[in-house]
Amino acid sequence: MDHVSHPEIREAVARLCARFPGEYWRGLDRDRVYPTEFVNALTEAGFLSVLIPEEYGGSGLGLGAATAVLEEIHRSGGNGGACHAQIYTMGCVLRHGSPEQKARYLPGVASGEIRLQAFGVTEPTAGTDTTRISTFARRDGDRYIVNGQKIWISRAEHSDLMVLLVRTTPREDVKRASDGMSVLLVDMREAVGDGLTIRPIRTMINHATTELFFDDLAVPAENLIGEEGRGFHYILDGMNAERILIAAECIGDGKFFLDRGAAYAKDRKVFGRSIGENQGVQFPLARAHVQVSAAALMVDHATALFEADQPCGTEANMAKLLASEASWYAADQCLQIHGGFGFAEEYDIERKFRETRLYQVAPISTNLILSHVATHVLGLPKSF
Ligand SMILES: Cc1cc2nc3c(=O)[nH]c(=O)nc-3n(C[C@H](O)[C@H](O)[C@H](O)COP(=O)(O)OP(=O)(O)OC[C@H]3O[C@@H](n4cnc5c(N)ncnc54)[C@H](O)[C@@H]3O)c2cc1C
Repeated sequence: MDHVSHPEIREAVARLCARFPGEYWRGLDRDRVYPTEFVNALTEAGFLSVLIPEEYGGSGLGLGAATAVLEEIHRSGGNGGACHAQIYTMGCVLRHGSPEQKARYLPGVASGEIRLQAFGVTEPTAGTDTTRISTFARRDGDRYIVNGQKIWISRAEHSDLMVLLVRTTPREDVKRASDGMSVLLVDMREAVGDGLTIRPIRTMINHATTELFFDDLAVPAENLIGEEGRGFHYILDGMNAERILIAAECIGDGKFFLDRGAAYAKDRKVFGRSIGENQGVQFPLARAHVQVSAAALMVDHATALFEADQPCGTEANMAKLLASEASWYAADQCLQIHGGFGFAEEYDIERKFRETRLYQVAPISTNLILSHVATHVLGLPKSF
């Protein structure tokens, strides 16, 4: 089932990940600690700057290279959630930033000196209905004054910069609901304690996610990305890459569960023979393999379209849906095959089981993908 794409990257990532075994991740999970050593190792090896053009110090590779990195991290039993956004959040600056903004930030992001891995969109009252965000940036001379609240903003405590979506014109005053939003680059180093408060949210997984409170935060007007009012469209651009990369993480998770499930099924003896001799144990694993393989093809397809600069919104969404469901099915079967041991922390199955569940909800939930397919592909009436 293994992909042939980027074998050298895959091998190098697998070697690096071998230095961070289950024990490492288990310890962090227990105490909800950020994987600093792992993130530093990935940064030093250049794996987080694969998408940054060479002129800014990155490797200038296509999205497929990044999918290979993240898939291998997840296949090894690790988790890319602590730093995956460092790979793609910079895309907003790269595609829509001014030459000055690119020159100022991208080399530091490429070297890892600057962490640009916080992406502030979701709000407690708006939910998935992004056009209803109410965090507002009011222009005041050469700065914006930001007030409002965001939720589920991951890695905010581990980021120097954040790409923040705000309203700059009230929804009632624009023709299209998606107009009137803007993207600001917030320097967290200056903002925290001076208009920005970060409150960590403890969740069922070790994912450094937070709630943000903006109280008259001043952001220099020069930190506006692109044109005022076009922010929603800039954010949408980056979402395809994000969905494809998260789908690749699911494929990695799926392979992890298959590797572990098959090994355990061969090894575990009950009633005088290995449990893997029973078709009741074989078939769910075989089905999981089929589903993960099919989803991986959709991830490859979406990646190829993205790399060719073709429209890929539907394919990126479908890849994310299929991959998140395939990894979840594989997780469930792997846990079942492990019997009671599936619940023991030391096997890493229960941790990965919890971790892979996230992807049916974030970065976009399954229903919203189905709704996209229903209305945009099948031409059914809009339901909202
Ligand atoms: C651990 C974690 C990390 C995250 N990191 C970030 C981050 O870094 N930055 C960021 O901006 N956001 C982040 N998010 C937010 C994430 O993108 C949202 O949680 C996700 O998009 C779902 O939105 P919601 O939670 O507001 O759910 P809601 O929009 O409230 O939806 C709740 C449920 O209702 C369903 N639903 C809603 N409307 C409809 C409809 N019309 N028809 C059918 N079903 C519907 C949804 O599918 C969902 O299952 C993160 C979330 C989590 C849990």
